Amino acid sequence: MTNSSTLVTGTQIAYFHLCHRKLWLFAHNIKMEQHSDLVAEGKFIDEHSYLKRADRWQELSIEGIKIDHFDAQRGIVREVKKSRKKEHAHRAQLLYYLYVLERNEIPVSHGLLEYPKLRQTEEVWLTDEDRRLIPLWEAEVVRIIQLESCPALVKKPICKNCSYYEFCFSA
Ligand code: SF4
Repeated sequence: MTNSSTLVTGTQIAYFHLCHRKLWLFAHNIKMEQHSDLVAEGKFIDEHSYLKRADRWQELSIEGIKIDHFDAQRGIVREVKKSRKKEHAHRAQLLYYLYVLERNEIPVSHGLLEYPKLRQTEEVWLTDEDRRLIPLWEAEVVRIIQLESCPALVKKPICKNCSYYEFCFSA
């Protein structure tokens, strides 16, 4: 953990893997809610109500993270996503959840990355290499958030579907 005033959230870890500018804007409360990726993802998950199928899945908040589906008995964290387009960021977010649980001595086995629309589920396991890298991600997230100004615009394939598109690309 960095320190109590700089708790890093799962969303920040995901954005760190997508775009440092997006991370900075989000952390500075510049949010385009009406077009937000998070709102869209949340709406999608709500529409797939079967995800609430079993009582064993519970919400858990700890340090900076909020896990929507945690099976405490089996030590499994489930993360539901709409598409595989940002899979590396989804994996990083889930690995971070596993890492924070482990750091807090909460028994944890592995994660499930679910894509209901594709009817696909992937198991995600925390490795020693992840345990070495994740503190570096956290330190980088804190460093980027604390920058005085927004990181420079670097165009990426994800830009056209990003909630900050107009913010970044309007002249
Ligand atoms: S539009 Fe592109 S550069 Fe701007 S925040 Fe989104 S991903 Fe980053």
